[in-house]
Amino acid sequence: MRVAVAGFEYEGNSLSLRIARREDFARIGLFEGEAILAGIAGKALALTGGVQALRDAGVAIVPVFVAKSGAGGHVEDGFFAEAFTRIVEGITAALPLDGLYIAMHGAMICATEKDPEGAILAALRARIGPSIPIAVSLDLHAHVTPRMVAAADIIIGYETYPHVDAYRTGACAAGLLLRALRGEIRPVTRIRKYNAIVPVLGGATLGDAPMAHVVAHARALEAAGRALSVSAFPVQPWLDMADVGITGLAVTDADPAGAEAVAQEILDDLWQRRRAFELPAMTPGEAVRAALAMPGRVLLVDAADSIGGGASGDSPALLAAILAHAPDAESALCLVDPQAADKAFALGPGAEAAFDIGAWQDRRWCAPVRLAARVERLCCGVFTYRGGPAAGVTAGLGATAVLRVGGLRLLVASHAVYEHLDEHYAACGVDIAGCKMVSFKNLMNYQKLLGPGVGFIAVHGPGGTPLRLQDVAWENRRRPFWPADDMAVPTPLT
Ligand SMILES: [Zn+2]
Repeated sequence: MRVAVAGFEYEGNSLSLRIARREDFARIGLFEGEAILAGIAGKALALTGGVQALRDAGVAIVPVFVAKSGAGGHVEDGFFAEAFTRIVEGITAALPLDGLYIAMHGAMICATEKDPEGAILAALRARIGPSIPIAVSLDLHAHVTPRMVAAADIIIGYETYPHVDAYRTGACAAGLLLRALRGEIRPVTRIRKYNAIVPVLGGATLGDAPMAHVVAHARALEAAGRALSVSAFPVQPWLDMADVGITGLAVTDADPAGAEAVAQEILDDLWQRRRAFELPAMTPGEAVRAALAMPGRVLLVDAADSIGGGASGDSPALLAAILAHAPDAESALCLVDPQAADKAFALGPGAEAAFDIGAWQDRRWCAPVRLAARVERLCCGVFTYRGGPAAGVTAGLGATAVLRVGGLRLLVASHAVYEHLDEHYAACGVDIAGCKMVSFKNLMNYQKLLGPGVGFIAVHGPGGTPLRLQDVAWENRRRPFWPADDMAVPTPLT
């Protein structure tokens, strides 16, 4: 049997000014043809898991095209057109095929195409005809559209956040595809969706968090034989589109009505728990003062400027608060400002100078912070993810300066790069073990650093990934929607 594999993974954010171009994908993962297999080998990617499952079954893999990046604003039209063509034409050229497996994030946006994954899958379906099964793996924060569901036979989302099951999700998608190819099942996928969005910060699948219960419910539905696979998508909330909302999805064996019923049941569970996604948070000043009063190290999660959620990563709001309230405390903070990094490289190590830091790209929320600093170190910021959905992948902050300001070590990076744990700090010689406060621009991965003697505070405010979704000036969302409207009965989107 011959199965074509491809990947196009990117998470969009309508509030972000950061545009994803070809070079942004090339920095993380851009491969074509046979080079894909070497490019994904030894990593914990969904595509790696899918390819391994297919190989173990003796399937001939036809690798077509892979583009992977993190999160940001829209994908530039030219690169989307290139990737679309490479995937659709590449798979068409590889016919005859028995099946397709495609790894996607599921929440991409482009300047022109508002349903990029749906456009690719629909084009593929049109080219390959109705009988060749298509399996798709998605991120837990995917925005699943009816067009995607109509084109694909099998859709499976991650079930963990922090994301640690990308490999397994790819293997599961490929596993169902294999069963379909052997004629054991005839998979059908259905979704149900409500006009509701929930804060990403409260979406952990750990402990007693609401999503942990929803995921357990999904597993119970599978164990009871109600569906082959059940996914719950709390969705990437910072997408300004009318059809974005929490989603339940189920794959059944030739039972569309059963799939709809299970999708509805898991969606209703998600809806009932919506209030539990709201977590306490503080302003930057409150957070720094509270951290000083807490024992041990404190992780400050800059929720409004999460690079992992697509924000520009250049907000200096927390920097300003640390300088104002705890200038001598040993702290570490990373933000994106290529102009300040360039200045530090021009000055050289050991130089002392005044810098204007932050709000390099996005001045809608904060102004740059002026400070006097010593250039402590200059580096290229290259690191390999130790876990998460990009485990094993090498990424780079670009030219990065470590500035010393009082007790603070300030990483000034050139690129906004998805943070996992402290790999980016370690790559620049900053050991967070000795820090009182450490700032992160990722909404969930910090969880893996928590433990005895380590606390955490979520910091809220204006930004590209604001916690309070009801305060965003949405242009395209329809009312009523949760949480702007406290309706007792949800409004269906599908
Ligand atoms: Zn995600």
